[in-house]
Amino acid sequence: MKTCTVFGDMQSDSAAEQYPTVTLCNECVEQDALAEEDNQIVSQGAYDESFGDSCEWCGITSAEEEGAAQ
Ligand SMILES: [Zn+2]
Repeated sequence: MKTCTVFGDMQSDSAAEQYPTVTLCNECVEQDALAEEDNQIVSQGAYDESFGDSCEWCGITSAEEEGAAQ
């Protein structure tokens, strides 16, 4: 899991909605990196569980991701 800042709703007046901070799984982070110019991730950092324990995009939980990695 990673905690990432992504492109959000650019019509919004709120920076938090333009660049929301979300939890993403490693798989979605990798897929985004492969998308190159179409990528949605602005920046990524260490996983912070206070932003949630499931992937914003595919819904996998941190427990499921750990299980899948074994
Ligand atoms: Zn995911």
